[in-house]
Amino acid sequence: MKKIIITEDQKKILVNHTNNEKPNESCAILFGSVKEQVASVKEVFLANNIEESPVNFTISNEQLIEIYKTAEDRKTDVVGIFHSHPNSEAYPSSTDKKFMQSNPVVWVIYSGVSKNFRAYVLESDISEISIETSF
Ligand SMILES: [Zn+2]
Repeated sequence: MKKIIITEDQKKILVNHTNNEKPNESCAILFGSVKEQVASVKEVFLANNIEESPVNFTISNEQLIEIYKTAEDRKTDVVGIFHSHPNSEAYPSSTDKKFMQSNPVVWVIYSGVSKNFRAYVLESDISEISIETSF
């Protein structure tokens, strides 16, 4: 994967969700499509962090089933996982790196400290990819 394209509106939805979930991490699933190593986000599905933790997040199995069913109904794919780091930079934690292995999609992280989004994929190692904002 080389790049992820996300709209300004989708970013606003994710930032609002992050602010609503403070002081805990927020999470969401990104629906869309991948073409020529570029992921385009079509829709965001806001999820609940059942851990209610400022340093970790978990989406329940029930909600994951609902998310995958919704993606199927809308004929779209899960292209990314979003979560926030309320108190740290937008860089994958050791736990994130572990879960990236079992969830090989684009991982988008928003930092509540520097207020920016960054995106990563796990290939042979963790690599950062660019985020393009569309309007
Ligand atoms: Zn994290």
